[in-house]
Amino acid sequence: MSVHYRLLIGGQLVDGASHFEVMNPATETVLATCPKADGSQLEAAVRAARDAFPAWADTTQEARAALIQAIADGLLSRAEAFAHLLTAEQGKPLDQAHAEVMGTVFTLKAFAEMRIADKVLVDEPGHRVIEHRTPLGVCAAITPWNFPLVLLANKLGPCLMAGNTMVAKPAPTTPLTTLLLGEILADILPAGVVNIIADQNELGPLLTSHPDVMKVAFTGSTETGKKVMASAAGTVKRVTLELGGNDAAIVLDDMPPALAAQKVYQGAMTNAGQICVAIKRAYVHDSIHDAFCEEIARLAQAAVVDEGTRQGVTIGPVQNRMQFEKVSALLADARGKGQVLAGGAPLDRPGYFIPPTIIAGLDDEAPLVREEQFGPVLPVLRFTDIEEVIARANASDYGLAGTIWSRDVARATDIARRINTGTVWVNQHLAIDPRIPFRGVMQSGLGAELGEAGLLEYTQAHIINAVDLDR
Ligand code: NAD
Repeated sequence: MSVHYRLLIGGQLVDGASHFEVMNPATETVLATCPKADGSQLEAAVRAARDAFPAWADTTQEARAALIQAIADGLLSRAEAFAHLLTAEQGKPLDQAHAEVMGTVFTLKAFAEMRIADKVLVDEPGHRVIEHRTPLGVCAAITPWNFPLVLLANKLGPCLMAGNTMVAKPAPTTPLTTLLLGEILADILPAGVVNIIADQNELGPLLTSHPDVMKVAFTGSTETGKKVMASAAGTVKRVTLELGGNDAAIVLDDMPPALAAQKVYQGAMTNAGQICVAIKRAYVHDSIHDAFCEEIARLAQAAVVDEGTRQGVTIGPVQNRMQFEKVSALLADARGKGQVLAGGAPLDRPGYFIPPTIIAGLDDEAPLVREEQFGPVLPVLRFTDIEEVIARANASDYGLAGTIWSRDVARATDIARRINTGTVWVNQHLAIDPRIPFRGVMQSGLGAELGEAGLLEYTQAHIINAVDLDR
């Protein structure tokens, strides 16, 4: 396996115009040198994708599916190496890195099994109307640093399956697994079908405004998502935005507190809380609030916080310094306003380590409750009345996901219907499935990823409306 990372442009693995260093967040030491593309390499990548598009769009769905399967198999055959690199660049514990690699394989395979069919809208004597789906052309995939592989697969699978070509740009702090995937793509795909460039946040605006890019599939923060949307407007590009969230968990009075604590802890602390759909605030019924707090604090205290490669580690570092400082500031503010039940301060050691922290007694206006913390710090809030808690959960500009926990699924489902988010889970969390569309409402996003809806986002509807001359 090469440790000389290269860009993928026009089927060739190439060096960047310059380079930058990628850090290991667990040690704050340099992990690797990453090639950095300049504007002319971006132009070359877009041109290669544009030139490859007509022939790729002309291939059959069966042929494209076979190549997507081959990419998934190539990744599977190197799963161990990908998982180690993912832990090194992202920080997550090795078992979670394995799970991400396997999720990437599963997602690609799920898209390789999907097919796009014509839809007959009218079929009457002498008159037939068909909605036919055509690919868009060059799509840009811009991904964040929390799940660099699987969030790319969410875009790569449907983009290729629908007959489009791609220019992918990973986040500057986690580009390495994407570049390594480029080695597999270079062996399998025709030249130019997928191109990968890396940057330090300079190239995004050039991609999102480029006249030859027909769609931008973006996952990242709401602030950057707004810039992407504005930039794409100049050429009326299609955009899919998967943005931030502030997911509420609502734990009803009939929930056993220990079970609720275990489930909410997992939903909040997996990947050190750096998941768009992590539980970011937990509303717990007054009758079980104190028992719940005791249990969840116990789980947090029992966490093993260390480098992701160490055996038994459950919480790795926060991925980068900027995020570490943001979470540390939210934590410091909350510490003064609520009661710290576990954790409470960043660890005094190299690496961006924040132990899982549980804070009770905050009011809903506290920044830790109102903002997206995106780190291992969870506020637990008390409620007594269902109407009140629904209003509190919905009092957000975000609308990504949420969960209701109860023994009574029908009661929980009725409440779920009234939560204004793209997804509401009942008695489970983080249940992302490539067969099920995923979307944010309000400032959490635009358009769908995954499922048939996610696949169709990479197509345009083309109506063919035909009548017989002698009708
Ligand atoms: P970010 O917005 O800072 O960066 C995301 C990507 O955008 C990176 O590749 C970055 O280089 C690029 N970028 C930066 N400036 C750009 C610009 N002006 N134009 C185009 N691209 C630009 O996000 P992040 O900090 O890497 O990721 C964390 C955020 O992502 C959190 O808010 C999280 O909730 C969100 N997220 C959402 C989902 C989802 O599916 N809804 C999934 C994962 C993460």
